[in-house]
Amino acid sequence: MKKQYLFLIIVAGLLTFFSACTKEAHYKALIVTGQNNHNWQASNPILKQLLDQTGLFTSDIIITPVKGGDMTTFDPKFSKYDLVVLDYNGDTWTEKTNTAFLKFVRNGGGVVVYHAADNSFPEWEEYNKIIGLGGWGNRNEKSGPYVYYRGNEIVRDDTSKGIGGTHGARSEFMIKTRNFEHPITKGLPANWLHGNDELYSLLRGPAENMEILATAFSATREPGQAPGNTSGQANRRRGRDEPVLMTITYGKGRIFHTVLGHADEGGGPAMECVGFIVTFLRGAEWAASGKVTQAIPFDFPSAAGVVIRPGFKEITLEDALANIGSYDIAKSTKNFNFLRNYFRKISGDEQALLNLEKRMVTVLISNEATVDAKKLLLRELSWMGSDYSVPSIKDLLSNAELKDEAEFALARHQK
Ligand code: ZN
Repeated sequence: MKKQYLFLIIVAGLLTFFSACTKEAHYKALIVTGQNNHNWQASNPILKQLLDQTGLFTSDIIITPVKGGDMTTFDPKFSKYDLVVLDYNGDTWTEKTNTAFLKFVRNGGGVVVYHAADNSFPEWEEYNKIIGLGGWGNRNEKSGPYVYYRGNEIVRDDTSKGIGGTHGARSEFMIKTRNFEHPITKGLPANWLHGNDELYSLLRGPAENMEILATAFSATREPGQAPGNTSGQANRRRGRDEPVLMTITYGKGRIFHTVLGHADEGGGPAMECVGFIVTFLRGAEWAASGKVTQAIPFDFPSAAGVVIRPGFKEITLEDALANIGSYDIAKSTKNFNFLRNYFRKISGDEQALLNLEKRMVTVLISNEATVDAKKLLLRELSWMGSDYSVPSIKDLLSNAELKDEAEFALARHQK
């Protein structure tokens, strides 16, 4: 090879290398919606906002015809995208659209199956392989096994007869991370509390090439079980840890399935939950690219309490401290939960605790902060405060409304 050619090849190689380094990963996402037993009009702009504000995605929304409408007009160009987000539960698509979708996934396209999208298409065999597990739509033992955890054991072969898909009343529930190695869940706390949502249970499906990343305990009775039977074996079978976050591979395609995020008007607590938002976005990035570059954010919840993002913007420590002064126990616990989670994260780090303590004292001695806020801060300072806060707490002994809490904080400090 002539020297000048070799030189050109090296230069070309270096240029490619540098452009790869400086160019931010950018993925094109398509959100499919238009029919759902849920408020898809509320959820789809939120999903778009969440994806786009990461800077990793540019997303489009495609809306199907209404129920009973002419599906031949629904002809998405899946292959132009890196990721398809399914927020759809409705009429069957045309054979052409189905074929295009399967081709997209087999060729390596990413898919996010969001909440009730796993209710869709009970009769479409390949779709059910893509979602892994599904519910409702007359799903039953013919749809595939129940898959869940019992204690630390995964159960994949429960082919017992019964319905596929149910959920109890909406509530906050604890999510247990099951896979700490997967890029989506690496670095997440072992247990974290999720905002008021439906906990899907008794899902069933082919569950091929499916990994469970996280579960939540559902007390839902299994089919055929007598209500109120709490004896021995029966009691152990009363409930089980149901999958809430899953990955599936289909051909070369990667699928992230989240059962979380029931949408209310404006999103609501399930969609505003930081745990939902962060796992959705990490799952979307993984499905699109096979990797996750997003850091676990500062406001990710722990077992201590739900953290929500009003307006779907990340809460910073600055925001939490700025807002804690207006804390009103009857109105809102969100800033308090945020701080409680933060305390847990930095416990053991003396410098971080001292920095936080100084900022808490600033709020404690301010004229603007509410009595509830000051009581809350005194309670926290009682265990994490150092000598730094003692003079400020002593000053509060003369305040009739705060005297008890101040005495308590000082007494604990002296131990
Ligand atoms: Zn729902």
